[in-house]
Amino acid sequence: MVGTKPTAQGRAKRLERLRHVLWAGLISLVLAVLSVLDPVDQFLWVTQSRAISTEASGEIVYLASRQDLSDPNFPERRQQLTQALRRLEEGGAERVFIDSVFEDPTDEAIDGDLNEAILEFSGDAYLVADYRFDATRELQLAQSNATIARGVDQVGSDLYKNYLGYIWAADYTIQAGESQLPSLAAEMANATGGPDAIFPINYNIALSSIPSVSLEEFLSNDSAKSRLAGKTVVIGGRVSNSGTTYNIPGTRDVPSTIVHIYAAETLIAGKTGVIANYWTALAAILLLALASIIRQDGIRRSLYATIVVLIPIGLAAAAISGWRADFADLLALCGAFGAFRLRSKWKDSFALLDPETNLPTFAALEADRSIVETVPAIIVAKIHRFEQVRRTLPKDLHSEYVLRIIKRLKAATQDATIYRGEGHMIAWTMPEKEPALVQEHLEGLRALFSSPLIVGDRQVDVGITFGVDITPSPNVVRRLASAVAVAEQTNETYDPIAIADTTSEEDLIWNISLQARIDAALSNGEIYLVFQPKIMVQTGEIIGVEALVRWKDPVKGHIPPDNFIRQCETAGRMSQLTHFVLEKACKAGTELSERGFNLPVAVNISATLVHERAIVQMVSDALKKTGFEPNSLTLEITETYRISNIDRAAEILGELRALGTKISMDDFGVGAASLEALLRLPFAELKIDRMFISRMIEDDKAAGIVKNILQLGKDLRIIVVAEGVEDAGTLTKLRDSGCLVAQGFAISRPVTLDKILQYQKDNRTNIQSNMV
Ligand code: C2E
Ligand code: CA
Ligand code: CA
Repeated sequence: MVGTKPTAQGRAKRLERLRHVLWAGLISLVLAVLSVLDPVDQFLWVTQSRAISTEASGEIVYLASRQDLSDPNFPERRQQLTQALRRLEEGGAERVFIDSVFEDPTDEAIDGDLNEAILEFSGDAYLVADYRFDATRELQLAQSNATIARGVDQVGSDLYKNYLGYIWAADYTIQAGESQLPSLAAEMANATGGPDAIFPINYNIALSSIPSVSLEEFLSNDSAKSRLAGKTVVIGGRVSNSGTTYNIPGTRDVPSTIVHIYAAETLIAGKTGVIANYWTALAAILLLALASIIRQDGIRRSLYATIVVLIPIGLAAAAISGWRADFADLLALCGAFGAFRLRSKWKDSFALLDPETNLPTFAALEADRSIVETVPAIIVAKIHRFEQVRRTLPKDLHSEYVLRIIKRLKAATQDATIYRGEGHMIAWTMPEKEPALVQEHLEGLRALFSSPLIVGDRQVDVGITFGVDITPSPNVVRRLASAVAVAEQTNETYDPIAIADTTSEEDLIWNISLQARIDAALSNGEIYLVFQPKIMVQTGEIIGVEALVRWKDPVKGHIPPDNFIRQCETAGRMSQLTHFVLEKACKAGTELSERGFNLPVAVNISATLVHERAIVQMVSDALKKTGFEPNSLTLEITETYRISNIDRAAEILGELRALGTKISMDDFGVGAASLEALLRLPFAELKIDRMFISRMIEDDKAAGIVKNILQLGKDLRIIVVAEGVEDAGTLTKLRDSGCLVAQGFAISRPVTLDKILQYQKDNRTNIQSNMV
């Protein structure tokens, strides 16, 4: 049952991807048919042409006039042309193409002279015929007048520029009446092709590599003349007779003759390949379709990546080899497919059903109206090491893992709807909102998870902690977020269950005003110290006291230090509080010694403070100010697992020890960093956490741990203190285990300094083991 869902899910996803490929294919096809993508192709071709630069053959020379040679109002230009032809003959040019149509006659003698010069040219000489719109807007073949053209071979000079001014293809032949004229380019390149055949013009050739000589220079300069020996020469006006100019990649407004030369050079280089666009598009669609049905995410994604990478590679290959391909289709295909996939992913993130488990998602919880009406407790379970565990499991067990966790949860949540969040969060609601009862229920749930889950044939340990929101707000989104936030802060060993403590508006205000309150509370006596004795287990003699802070708020009553210390931290008042406690504790110590009792005093220092040197100054100031003996001051470092930079902590604790104080490690045994901290920090004492001591009697494991920590202390030659001794039985057991120092309610609750003084006076000789 558990295993079937993901497969069906996988198949649905594969079908969805395939559908997206087909839609993307269809879209790119429609775009191609509508020529919408044509500008993109042209842009790509321009880019390709500019990215690659090759040299012209040099066999074709452009003899360029600045004027329109055919203009009948300037017969002298035709005389110049005649003169040029004669010089070309003398210079030994091989062939001449005159890229100009002389429709209108000028002086009969001048036109006749030109005809004579053409015919007298010993190589091949050609005139061109070109299609033009006549007065009635009909396309007509324009040819030179009979006087000039008599007996002269003709080639076609027809070019169609597109809406962007480019010409991407040229003809091999041009229709002239019943017959076909070879095109100017084809004839220059001595190439032939069928009547309707066209070829792409390759613009990779650098414009500067096409030899060009100005007609004016040629007529006046003999060295220019000799440079044209053996060449194919095209004579053309910089402005053609129609006045039309063209764009080529990299240069705007070039005369048609240049485009003809490009076409001819393309044929000479033989780079006239065309990749039929539908083949590339079809191949891409097939490849994408193939990739889309691949089950393994990794392989599928790398195939997608390959396709994406193939596009620029293809573009470069086509540019180098002179192929012309329509890559815009491919881009459209990939773009459309990518867009479909993104949209689907985006929709999934808002999905009300988790695809892996078919459970409703957190989005569904947020949308549930009944939660607004009944305002139940919202519970969020955080699965610890979720991703790590998942990674160790084979893929096909991933969803089973989640489903097993949920199945176990369901055993205790009855018919509550279970919602799945991203990854390691699971939520449900519970009508019970009394914090103590919620806590109790969740502790039970945690106990349920103390035995491993069976996933496939493996045993998997599940660490689970809870965040709860019990606020009566109708804002479900915020309530879920707050439950998630407190769940994130939970810790498997310390506080596995956290209840968002914005219970009422009043509390919220109280919390916010804490920052202001704390300063007042410190000065007006609301915050004060009590002292709890540490005794020698053998004799009952008090060998020191631990200073513990108390806050008695006139309105809220006793605030437990565990609560307000956290709040001091968030309010940035930890230093003030510690400063206060240090000073008061040292003062108490001095007072004790003035009365003749040299009792060491211990002060709790949060591990978060030993990251900064300020604490060294603070301790030394307190000692100086009160005149307390440094050797009698013990600093109990609490929550050592919170030390993030152990090197820095070692440095600062070293300085504190150099002041003469004794460093103690509080709460030993809980939190991850205990042993490393013990190894690397200069502790002279360690206090076994009361969690172990309080369980010693009924739990052999706890007793074993205590026994071993005591042994560890002996081996390391540091004092071990057992704290949280709540009854005589435990004290006896500790004594039998060889424990020397103990602290706890069984010996004494934390009391005022006066009580300590009184007790010490009363017991100068007569030692008791219990003061309360
Ligand atoms: P801690 O340093 O482990 O202090 C011992 C706590 O255990 C005290 O709680 C004490 O009242 C309690 N305790 C002592 N004997 C027994 C016992 O037999 N059974 C049980 N169940 N508990 C016992 P308290 O005073 O509520 O302090 C709680 C924590 O607050 C302290 O734990 C310490 O981490 C922190 N704290 C207290 N005062 C200060 C302070 O001045 N500065 C800093 N930074 N932290 C302080
Ligand atoms: Ca302590
Ligand atoms: Ca402790």
